[in-house]
Amino acid sequence: MSVQNTHFICEICGGYEMVLSSLNLRCNYGSENDGEELKLRICGKCADRYMSVFNEKTQEKYRGDKHKRTKGL
Ligand SMILES: [Zn+2]
Repeated sequence: MSVQNTHFICEICGGYEMVLSSLNLRCNYGSENDGEELKLRICGKCADRYMSVFNEKTQEKYRGDKHKRTKGL
């Protein structure tokens, strides 16, 4: 087995990762970048970084179920 096939390169930091995360952003009407689409394959560390940025900016009602996991303990 080749080592190259089991690693991916993060498109943000250039680091190696075993399993890729992804960041997708689509701009439409109302945006200066109308029609632009960003699809990045990123590592877990970059995913965490962007996740925390978006979690900070995003209202609680739009967050995924994962953030409710402490409920009911
Ligand atoms: Zn990265």
